Amino acid sequence: MKDRAKEIAKNAAVIFAVAISYYIFYRVTSIGLKCPLYELTGLLCPGCGITRMFTSLLSFDIAGAFYYNAAVLILLPFWCVLIVSHYAEYIKTGARALKRWHKAILIASIIIMVAYGILRNVSDLGLSPSHF
Ligand SMILES: [Zn+2]
Repeated sequence: MKDRAKEIAKNAAVIFAVAISYYIFYRVTSIGLKCPLYELTGLLCPGCGITRMFTSLLSFDIAGAFYYNAAVLILLPFWCVLIVSHYAEYIKTGARALKRWHKAILIASIIIMVAYGILRNVSDLGLSPSHF
């Protein structure tokens, strides 16, 4: 159990360090990752705006975060619960299999993200940030 906890803590620390480094780099330079789909086609993918969404969120600007990527903002708490639950179970038992409700969240997330990706390109529901 202790080894599994160390493994998860090490991986989480690496992910956190990369995320913080990218956030600081973005805040200092305003240079973010370019979306290949957007660069090639001008279409917004379901993930477009995530950097700006997180930047807004970290500034407690919920409306701005919603504007940049509403789907990820709404799904984020579900993903956090799923990740914490899954890794807590893994640390406790060593089980790597996803539980049924984990899979349900993932499948629902995929459906929502695909729908969001389509909607933000075909409608004007305020789901398409105009200044990418
Ligand atoms: Zn994109």
